[in-house]
Amino acid sequence: MKLGLFGGSFDPVHLGHLLVAQAAVEELGLDRLFFIPAAQSPFKPDREPTPAALRVQMLRLALAGQTAWDVDEQELTRGGVSYTIDTVCDYARRFPDAALFYLIGADHVGKLPQWREAAELARRATFVVIPRPGEPEIAAPEPFRLQVLRGFPLGVSASQVRARARAGLPLAPLVPVAVAEAIRNNRLYL
Ligand code: ATP
Repeated sequence: MKLGLFGGSFDPVHLGHLLVAQAAVEELGLDRLFFIPAAQSPFKPDREPTPAALRVQMLRLALAGQTAWDVDEQELTRGGVSYTIDTVCDYARRFPDAALFYLIGADHVGKLPQWREAAELARRATFVVIPRPGEPEIAAPEPFRLQVLRGFPLGVSASQVRARARAGLPLAPLVPVAVAEAIRNNRLYL
């Protein structure tokens, strides 16, 4: 069984994330894909994330109808700074026979050696890189095994969606219509 793990802030989830997910399912032949929102990213210490319940709500709206895609709230339940090694070990324990693929955008490749317990992480999961416009292709930093997908390169980011919300600009189709509505109804990112 091939499992895809897709961690991030998802603040908010946007079309870039959904295209990453679709590319990974198609190109890797994943059986299931888990979106794993972080409680607090170790790399974004200065940014207070939107409350977890709202980020999860938006994820669930965005994934409605995708039966092989799930939201895994384990990092939110653990709380504090979220470390991928804890999450990957949890999957290795629950699915001992599965091959684990951890998805990252190209902007994260250079920092991989700084992730906690990098060597153990690299041993337990194959890291899968999805190209991101403006991000150069970087060779795999030791000891990671990287697989690069063709993807559907798209220059959308959560920062851009938040800036548009602040400026009162339309958010769809950069985020699904239901997510745009949830952002408006909850007065997020103003
Ligand atoms: P922000 O703009 O706030 O930094 P983000 O858009 O990068 O956020 P995250 O939730 O931090 O979104 O991203 C989760 C994962 O998805 C990361 O690995 C990130 O590199 C990847 N990702 C996000 N957007 C894209 C995109 N357009 N193309 C490829 N990968 C992406």
